[in-house]
Amino acid sequence: MRRVDPTNLSHRCSICGVFLADCSCAELPRFAPRHEIVFLQHTAELLKPTNTARLACRILSNARCLTWNRVETPPLGPNSLLIYPLAGAPILEAGDLQQPRQIVLPDATWTQAARIANVLRSRGMPVATLPDEVRSRWGVREGGGATRVSSAEAAGFVLALAGETQAARCLVDAVADIGRKIMAMRGLPWTGGQD
Ligand SMILES: [Zn+2]
Repeated sequence: MRRVDPTNLSHRCSICGVFLADCSCAELPRFAPRHEIVFLQHTAELLKPTNTARLACRILSNARCLTWNRVETPPLGPNSLLIYPLAGAPILEAGDLQQPRQIVLPDATWTQAARIANVLRSRGMPVATLPDEVRSRWGVREGGGATRVSSAEAAGFVLALAGETQAARCLVDAVADIGRKIMAMRGLPWTGGQD
């Protein structure tokens, strides 16, 4: 995990993680898509100053973050659908989203997220994966690359497929905006995930 000087955290927005002077969270619109989004957060994510799931919860009134617990799975509805590229998972289609669903997204490092997804599938949760052509514009997490989308972007792509285009565009644009600002804070070039 990136080391952060705790004395500096008070200068950073608790939602998007950028310096308060550069934060645009107060201007973000709110959307209430008919699909609920649940981010299952690994406990390590709670300590990270940058986390796109928190940003998604600011934009979507029916999104929430639950802390992952392997022993006691957080309460999830009977219409839940896990989104993760597990081997053998079918590609998500618009037909999967005709009825309101509870969209479950692991929010963790790639390795931690794979473990969470495997546990949920072993407990019977249906799973689907995003299409291969989906690309990230986050450009922040090390080892991410454009094919590994951030949590908020994954929610955005699901909502776009469900026809919630305004909410989807807001999520993806907000992630790109925050990614660019965070890389500027680090004095590094922002690739927009094109690496
Ligand atoms: Zn902010």
